[in-house]
Amino acid sequence: MNIDLHCHSTASDGLLKPGELVARAVVNGVEVLALTDHDNVSGLVEARAQAESQGIRFVNGVEISVTWEGSTVHIVGLQIDPEDPVLRSGLESVRAGRARRAEKMGEALDAAGIPGSLAGARIYAENPTLISRSHFARHLVKTGRAPNVKSVFQRYLVKGKPGYVPHQWASLADAVSWIRASGGIAVVAHPGRYKFPKPELHAFLAEFRDCGGAGIEVVTGSHSPEQYLEFARVARKFGLRASRGSDYHGKGESKADLGALPQLPDDLSPVWRDW
Ligand code: AMP
Ligand code: MN
Ligand code: MN
Ligand code: MN
Repeated sequence: MNIDLHCHSTASDGLLKPGELVARAVVNGVEVLALTDHDNVSGLVEARAQAESQGIRFVNGVEISVTWEGSTVHIVGLQIDPEDPVLRSGLESVRAGRARRAEKMGEALDAAGIPGSLAGARIYAENPTLISRSHFARHLVKTGRAPNVKSVFQRYLVKGKPGYVPHQWASLADAVSWIRASGGIAVVAHPGRYKFPKPELHAFLAEFRDCGGAGIEVVTGSHSPEQYLEFARVARKFGLRASRGSDYHGKGESKADLGALPQLPDDLSPVWRDW
């Protein structure tokens, strides 16, 4: 079965509208799709309607930004109820933090001699309540600061660079509890991206599990094939359900297309086992 449980639309920092994203997933042979926009659920209604009209199964999702021990990590929620008031108010608080961070990023870039980037980023943010580094990146590419989004991140938007602003996202316990309050399952997104030394990764996963977290992405667009095997071992060791998702954002901005990744190793217990 072709299952893709992680992607982004214009409701956060993806390039396709929710309905367009679903249509592309269908063309690619996806049979079960979750939309997991950053800190926001406003794209789910349109995506679900498109999925129903095209006859594929749709899963409500979200990807919550979290700060754990000073590092940013992402927690995906699957099978959430987007109307749940606890989830909604939690996500609203995270988005308010994003708005404040964007102001500071604009000021930092102004001070570095790159004026007007907040206004520029806003043009790319179709959802004005969800402004991301990706929107700044697209503006900086457009204005010739770097040839592509990847290099703009390296030059301007990561730790130690002029447009980087440290930020406190949701706590791990809060993010997991919002997901669970809305009936969802919490899944660690792209663990290979965090570069945690082993003891820290283990401490993080132990705390995640203690908070009620239940899954981990094993096959994701962010992982190399070696990391599929590495995080399959981690899933077994920690008794976590395994997930698979492309993290597709749009043409030219993603390593993996919708539905294009390999299957999970057979022996793992997938997050969708009881769906
Ligand atoms: P934010 O949540 O606003 O800090 O933005 C994070 C988003 O930026 C991620 O979800 C990716 O879509 C994108 N991103 C982060 N790092 C990179 C990178 N090195 N190259 C391209 N996109 C990136
Ligand atoms: Mn993103
Ligand atoms: Mn992520
Ligand atoms: Mn993502």
